[in-house]
Amino acid sequence: MIHLLHGTVEYWAKGAQTCRNYVSTANLEEHLSKRTSKYGDWSPDCPDGDVLTVDDATRGGADACILARQFGHSVLLFVNPWQVITGEPYFFSVLDAAMDARTEHNMLYRGETLWLKNPYHLRRFRKRAKALLMTMPASQAVAAAYDLAEKLGAKSLELPPHILPLTPAELCGLRDMGVRIESHGWSHTDIQSFDDAALIEDITRTREWLRSEIAADALLYAIPFGVSDIPLDLAPMFPHGYFLASSLRPQGKIAGRSWNRYDLTEQLNGSIQPNDSSERRNVAGKKTLTARAPDIR
Ligand SMILES: [Zn+2]
Repeated sequence: MIHLLHGTVEYWAKGAQTCRNYVSTANLEEHLSKRTSKYGDWSPDCPDGDVLTVDDATRGGADACILARQFGHSVLLFVNPWQVITGEPYFFSVLDAAMDARTEHNMLYRGETLWLKNPYHLRRFRKRAKALLMTMPASQAVAAAYDLAEKLGAKSLELPPHILPLTPAELCGLRDMGVRIESHGWSHTDIQSFDDAALIEDITRTREWLRSEIAADALLYAIPFGVSDIPLDLAPMFPHGYFLASSLRPQGKIAGRSWNRYDLTEQLNGSIQPNDSSERRNVAGKKTLTARAPDIR
């Protein structure tokens, strides 16, 4: 199995939007210390052992990688150079912080009044806002997220540290402690908004920056948002593999070079039991857990 996390937060709070894709530090420590076998390094030739991957260049993601190394595990961190270079947060981090700090109970969104009172309202709002912002260039998406924060009544918004982006120096520090740094695309834009040429440019630019600035040979690729596959003719760009994170596909190897990952977040936060009814067998006949996590980023 290829496991996926987005990071840890020390004070995890149920229902907090800024915690929704993170696990509590204590729960991750327990998981890492109790595993009978260590997470191994990625190799497309020997996929038997479990592999741990962490997506996005955030402090919470870095903390998860540091913990993994402290407990003797291999770990791969998939990062976006644009956030690292500019220090700008991910648009979804701004959106989540704004939802936590909202003072309005409803808002006018694209001509429609949306209520923001209960978890269902919030999920619906987040889904709709994300669908729009994920296709925008990153700087535009962040600006749009701050505009939405104003409409939510979340003024002078402060983002909690675990969702802030890493600096280049922090990324080099992770590399030096043995974290494998890989590509998550230039700025976490939805690849469906790219044509082939733009996607090739995005992938190439990311690889070149990681090589020149971080001295990391990024041969792998985790597709931003984890759901849209890359066009088949671009798969040869990743002879060592690339990764999705879709709850709708089988776990493990999907096609020649594409692999699907299991998001551990809900399980580690206690809402899915490891041996509950979501356990089933994948195409290779191995036992797997079916990811219920609906909204990977
Ligand atoms: Zn991501």
